Amino acid sequence: MQHKPDATPHTPTLPGATLGLLGGGQLGRYFVIAARTAGYEVWVLDPDPHAPAAHFASRHLCAAYDDPEALKELGTHCAAITTEFENTPASAMAQLADQYGCAVRPSAQAVSIAQDRIREKQFFQLCGLPVGNYCVIRSPADIPSAFASLSFPAIIKTARFGYDGKGQVRVAHSEEALQVLQNNLDFIPCVIEQQLDLATEVSVVLGRSESGEIQCFPVFENQHKDGILDISILPARVDPKIAEQARNMAMIVANKLDYVGVMAVEFFVLKEGHILLNEMAPRPHNSGHATIDAGTCSQFEQQVRLVCGFAPENPAPVPAAVMVNLLGDIWGGDGQAPAWEYLLKNSQTRLHLYGKREPRKGRKMGHFTVLGADQDQVIDTALSLRTALLGHQKTDFNL
Ligand code: ADP
Ligand code: MG
Repeated sequence: MQHKPDATPHTPTLPGATLGLLGGGQLGRYFVIAARTAGYEVWVLDPDPHAPAAHFASRHLCAAYDDPEALKELGTHCAAITTEFENTPASAMAQLADQYGCAVRPSAQAVSIAQDRIREKQFFQLCGLPVGNYCVIRSPADIPSAFASLSFPAIIKTARFGYDGKGQVRVAHSEEALQVLQNNLDFIPCVIEQQLDLATEVSVVLGRSESGEIQCFPVFENQHKDGILDISILPARVDPKIAEQARNMAMIVANKLDYVGVMAVEFFVLKEGHILLNEMAPRPHNSGHATIDAGTCSQFEQQVRLVCGFAPENPAPVPAAVMVNLLGDIWGGDGQAPAWEYLLKNSQTRLHLYGKREPRKGRKMGHFTVLGADQDQVIDTALSLRTALLGHQKTDFNL
């Protein structure tokens, strides 16, 4: 077994080499496509035999993320390793770097902060960046004193393993919060956040190299429904000063983490006109999917460059794009797919399906992107297409 200490600078990984990917969801699928297009082999580790990324992978290791044999296989065959979701055990990433000498980008340390809401918020504060009011509950004994400093309504969020609004409960007052926690002790450790009055939400997706060079994609404007990203608009329709602040704050986070790879930072934009950090993702982000079809460099092509040790590309500005998520809710009860012809008939529109076998409520099955030169027209087309596809009324959407 080879051993290269993590401190050894890694030479760039060239096409022909094998990359390792922890996680095989849709984000991984696009990473694999981008990497294989550029001439790399990709081995994917994911316990799901039907993992969306596995369809395109050179090899699928169908095993748990901490399976010693699978990690050994990855560690001995892959020059560089990355993750496509934040719940990869950080210990597995550390093992791949320390024991097998792989270039693991981002680092296990960065991922371990992003996968724990308590550490993540404390890290933002350590960076001197603003977050909303919240309290931390590490054990039931913290409950009475923790509530004292908080305004309600509020949102209880599990510290780990939450995504797409899962692991969250909205509570109207402290008595309800107490009741929810007493009845769901597995929610602890958690944070409780004051529910904010949002004007909108934005995200910054950036790429940072080992030498500290950063390139940001245009700021995305995001609308969520039931805690799940619904629509992203590019570029965000916010005051340029807000977009600039968001980019600067995201770069502070990336620098302080000494982050290598693609990461996303989500922001709340308040009605009073200032922004707060929400959370970060140590990987490409759903809100950045329009970059697959719009612009010169997708967030996944950027990820491949950075994981392989190259400088980030400077993405060209995009006039206008809208990405609409397609959840399992719009499939028929018998698994009947929606009427894709509504989308495919429109030449401004690109349809993406992730190859997931089972449509479930709230499950991200695909998305479509509408591209164009005029933002109002692009938004209008995206909403009309969705209206046609889903049979909803345009007034369902707050645009
Ligand atoms: P997830 O990991 O599921 O994305 P988030 O913390 O980003 O979790 O919450 C999902 C969405 O729920 C946010 O994008 C936002 O729309 C809404 N939300 C979360 N926290 C708050 C809050 N404190 N105030 C208002 N809305 C919130
Ligand atoms: Mg989020």
